[in-house]
Amino acid sequence: MKDTYEIAVVPGDGIGPEVADAAVRVLRGAFGNDCPLRFCDHPAGAELYRQTGESFPQATFRACAQADAVLHGAAGIPGVVHPDGTEAGLDFTLRLRFELDLYANIRPIRLYPGIRSPLADVKAGEIDYIILRENSEGLYAARGAGAQLRGEMAVDTLVQTRKGVERIVRKAFELARASNGAPADGVRRVTCVDKANVLRSYAFFRSIFDEVAADYPDIEAEHGLIDAMAMYLVTRPGHYNVIVTENMFGDILSDLAAATIGGMGLAPSAEVGERQGLFQAAHGSAPDIAGKGIANPYGTVLSAASMLEWLAANHDDDRLARAASRIREAVSAAIEAGLISRDLGGDSGSALITQGLCERLR
Ligand code: ATP
Ligand code: MG
Repeated sequence: MKDTYEIAVVPGDGIGPEVADAAVRVLRGAFGNDCPLRFCDHPAGAELYRQTGESFPQATFRACAQADAVLHGAAGIPGVVHPDGTEAGLDFTLRLRFELDLYANIRPIRLYPGIRSPLADVKAGEIDYIILRENSEGLYAARGAGAQLRGEMAVDTLVQTRKGVERIVRKAFELARASNGAPADGVRRVTCVDKANVLRSYAFFRSIFDEVAADYPDIEAEHGLIDAMAMYLVTRPGHYNVIVTENMFGDILSDLAAATIGGMGLAPSAEVGERQGLFQAAHGSAPDIAGKGIANPYGTVLSAASMLEWLAANHDDDRLARAASRIREAVSAAIEAGLISRDLGGDSGSALITQGLCERLR
């Protein structure tokens, strides 16, 4: 346990500063006068690149590496690119992921009471699972290992290492063990999602999953093929507890899953490694609605709650765990009371939602 925790806040672009500000207000609100978090803002992103020619200053990187946790809004503006064509702003997340080895991307998918799911007949509480996306290898890791040949052909490489697969699978079983199990039957279950019937890299992933699963006899282990899983997350979402999968499959499945709980605006994300964690909503910078006061802050607020839980576990600090559950309760209560943003079909603005959360935390 520490007296104070340093939180590096990187607001970024578009709605990033709006949702980051909302999350900081809610975090402060959860602790009242005795806040053990110290926030410090740091610049990064496409707007910064436009102004200074630099999208991720070394000073910001250092601050993120040294802080106890990093809270991020969102970064990137379509069309603002580096000379090599890569998006200015995207490098923020990618560099932190790879250089700080944030190998586990934890994406909780939970349907809140008061939110209408596009799935017919599904009730709140019936969707409550975690997608654990491998964040450091797979098809996205070896971007340098691909090739484009004379405008005629392009190749990318899917990399799975024993160490990389083992640690993500182990994390999945630990998350399942700490959970309440799947909503449908209360069974603690890990589902390995792959395409092992076609591709050897996925067969390798699955074989390591089976080895690790043997160490967790108390947790049910099962396999799912990615194509079937896209169907099952629609037809029987209540069956799932923890889903573990390769980088790109996790990327795709988590957008599908976010749609089933109301949309990207509600989907939180935590990217953690052995020493550092990056917390941001699953959505991007949504430049189309920036500055209008209508951005949905719930995704970032829920990511901030995950940040508290991660810090609480790492530092054995119950104060932070209690604050996290109070924030989650406030989110549930606010949504149920009708504080719903436009992207979710309501008409509450960001300020009203943030104020509503802070009032409930008092
Ligand atoms: P990225 O490439 O960074 O993932 P993206 O192109 O997928 O970005 P997002 O920025 O995630 O796009 O958002 C897509 C659209 O969804 C936005 O243009 C916006 O209209 C809506 N949206 C996303 N996040 C929110 C939010 N927090 N509140 C309200 N609407 C949102
Ligand atoms: Mg996106």
